[in-house]
Amino acid sequence: MQKITSEELFQRALKVAPGGVHSPVRSFKGLDRAPVFFKKAEGAFLTSVEDKKYIDFCQSFGPLILGHLDPEVKEEVHRMVDTAWTFGATEIYSLELAEWITSTLPFMEKLRFVSSGTEAVMSALRVARAATGRTKILKFEGCYHGHVDNLLVKAGSGLAGTAASSSAGIPAEVAAHTVVTPLDDEARLEEVFQVQGKDIAAVIIEPLPANYGLLVQRPEFLKRVAELCEKNGSLLIFDEVISGFRVGLQGMVEKTGIRPDLVTYGKIIGGGFPVGCYGGKAELMNMVAPSGDVYQAGTLSANPIGMRAGLTTLKKMQRLDGWNVLEKRTQKFAETLRAGFAKKGVPLEVSAVASLFWIHGPTKSPIRSIDQIPGNQGATFKGLFLKALDKGVYLAPNAYEVGFVSMAHTDELLEQAAHTIIESAE
Ligand SMILES: *Cc1c(COP(=O)(O)O)cnc(C)c1O
Repeated sequence: MQKITSEELFQRALKVAPGGVHSPVRSFKGLDRAPVFFKKAEGAFLTSVEDKKYIDFCQSFGPLILGHLDPEVKEEVHRMVDTAWTFGATEIYSLELAEWITSTLPFMEKLRFVSSGTEAVMSALRVARAATGRTKILKFEGCYHGHVDNLLVKAGSGLAGTAASSSAGIPAEVAAHTVVTPLDDEARLEEVFQVQGKDIAAVIIEPLPANYGLLVQRPEFLKRVAELCEKNGSLLIFDEVISGFRVGLQGMVEKTGIRPDLVTYGKIIGGGFPVGCYGGKAELMNMVAPSGDVYQAGTLSANPIGMRAGLTTLKKMQRLDGWNVLEKRTQKFAETLRAGFAKKGVPLEVSAVASLFWIHGPTKSPIRSIDQIPGNQGATFKGLFLKALDKGVYLAPNAYEVGFVSMAHTDELLEQAAHTIIESAE
């Protein structure tokens, strides 16, 4: 019997789903290749339908900080599957995760579980608008906050801070409620606040922007954001869907020492299952139904399987001091890559924070905003990605996506992967 191939499956998928995928970045768009179809994932590895094994640095775009199919999480998930799938009623599983979070992260006084990062962000914006009686949301160019109508916007031309939607199907009136300003630019931010400060319900920021490359912010910039929020009565929302439980137990709140009013989580919090969460100051969260009049609900919210996977993941990371372990491994991996690129004379650099890394062209100073990203990033990445793929390393299939190192990526495996990536670079 003839073996099935990714190419054939992609042709079938194109007939039944837009672009053949259920989330755009999976499609290998611009890479001139059908995406690889996988059938199995374990630890640091993916196995394709062709039975080829890949070292996976995409890790489902972040949720799997322990790697695929972690044995402890797997056991808990199996136990839960045998116990209940969903209650649609009060139960102990979400209570345990909520208590663990609120006792471990003091700024999370109260929280609500939802089913995705997008949903968490959408709900947090609603709370912020209700709490302030204001409409406008300020976001930063290069930060991603899910596919919320209000936040699929880019800087428009004209007046500082006007916005235009970056997706079809979003009314101009909706985009007009969002103000967009560049990262790493206090002066522009101050200007925007001067003109519209009294209308801004909330500023939402990825405190470690990691959805458009890795745009590490200066602490002073983040401090200024917080100060301007305080001064103008705007709420500060940290979108930690990607950085939360990734850069450390308390995420960027701990790293920056800034206390936001609301925080959103997703990805790691569900240990590989669909979970999101928003929370923060109790007085704000008390505005949410049924204790308050900000309506927000979900049939599968706080799904017990996700609750168990999340709690087991977080406790295991805590027990193993996982964040420290991963940071060391990732720094070493980045160093090996840098040394290899330099030795080979290829003009590539590696930015790495905690267990996130991003390969990009050389720049004179650190890349902190999207206009500082070298112009040839797409082409540079394409060559590297395809060669590495052929040699069995799966990087996230887009030039602006970061790589994720998990606890399943041992030092030996990282060494091997680094050499493959160096070999693939030119
Ligand atoms: C992934 C991500 C989201 C969206 O989460 P989904 O679960 O994909 O809806 C929002 N914000 C940030 C910072 C993210 O990285």
